[in-house]
Amino acid sequence: MAGLDTVAGRKLRGYLEVPGTEVRIPYTDVRGVKDGPTLLLSGGVHGGEYPGIAAAIEVASRLDPQELHGRVMVLHLTNPPAFWGKSQYWNPLDGKNLNRCFPGDPEGSASERMAARVIQELRQANYWVDMHGGDIHEELVPFTIFSDHASDEVRKTSEAMARAYGIPRLIRSGSVAGGSYAAAAELGVPAILPESGQVGQLDPVSQAIHVQGVFDVLHLLGFLEGDPTPHTAPQVYTRFVWSRASQQGFWRPRVHPGDRIALGALAGILHDVYGETLEEVRSPEAGEVLFTASSFAIGADDPLFAVAAP
Ligand SMILES: [Zn+2]
Repeated sequence: MAGLDTVAGRKLRGYLEVPGTEVRIPYTDVRGVKDGPTLLLSGGVHGGEYPGIAAAIEVASRLDPQELHGRVMVLHLTNPPAFWGKSQYWNPLDGKNLNRCFPGDPEGSASERMAARVIQELRQANYWVDMHGGDIHEELVPFTIFSDHASDEVRKTSEAMARAYGIPRLIRSGSVAGGSYAAAAELGVPAILPESGQVGQLDPVSQAIHVQGVFDVLHLLGFLEGDPTPHTAPQVYTRFVWSRASQQGFWRPRVHPGDRIALGALAGILHDVYGETLEEVRSPEAGEVLFTASSFAIGADDPLFAVAAP
C-alpha cells in the first residue's frame, strides 16, 4: 500500500480520540521497514496497574523500526480517566470496569465508547497483548490468561503467545463477558492477558516481566528476528474461581497469593466495625491462591480472592 510506504521505518506518536468524550488515548505506532503483521499492545486498561503502563512506555521507546517486521501499535495508557483519578477497577467517568465493556458501543457510556475505539484498532491487528497486574488494592502473583472459547487456530496461537511470555502460570479461561481476550476471540484475533504487578506499586521487577514477555512474543511471531527465550513448562490451570463479598465489611485475609488452599479452608474473615465476625469466607476450590484483596474496606460484591486449579 502506497500510504504505508511513506511511514515505514518510523514511529508515529499521537492520541486516539474517543468520539463523544474528552478521552484521548496516547499511542506510539511503530512501523517496521519490513512487511509483516500487526500487534496491538495495551497498558493501563485498569488505571492503577502501573507496571503494564510503564512497560508499554518502555517497549514503545525501545522498539527499533529498522529491525521490525510489520507494525506494533502501542496504547501506553488505555484508560486515562482511571489513571489520573487513581481509581482501581472503575472509570470515574461512568463507574464502569473497562475490561467488562469490550467490544464496546460507540453510542454508549464513556467506557463503552473507549472500548469501541480500542476494538477499532484491534480490527486492524493480527494479535493483542493486553498487559495487566494487581490493581491498587490487589495482591497478586503473576499469571497469563488466554481464552479457551475460541477457534482451534486462535486458541493454539494464543497459548503459544502465553507460553512465550514466560510467566510460569497459565490460565485457560472460559469466556469473561466484556473482557479483552474474549472480545478478541470473537473477532478471531489471538490474544493474551498477562498479569504482573500488585497493590498500586510501580515495581521494576513486574515491569521487566512484561517488557521481556512482549519482546519474547515479538520474536515468537516473527516481528523480530531471533528466537524467544526458552522457558520451563508452566503450570497450566483450567479453573479460575473468584470469591466475592456477600456484604460490606472489614476484610482480614488469612491467605496470600502463592499459597495452596484446600476446598473449604478458611481464606479470610469479614467482620463488622466492632470486630464481630460477619462471615468466615471459605475456599470454593482446592488450588493456588493467585490474588487477594488487600483493602481493609470491602463493599458488597467486591472481589476477595481467586483460586486457580488444574
Ligand atoms: Zn487489570
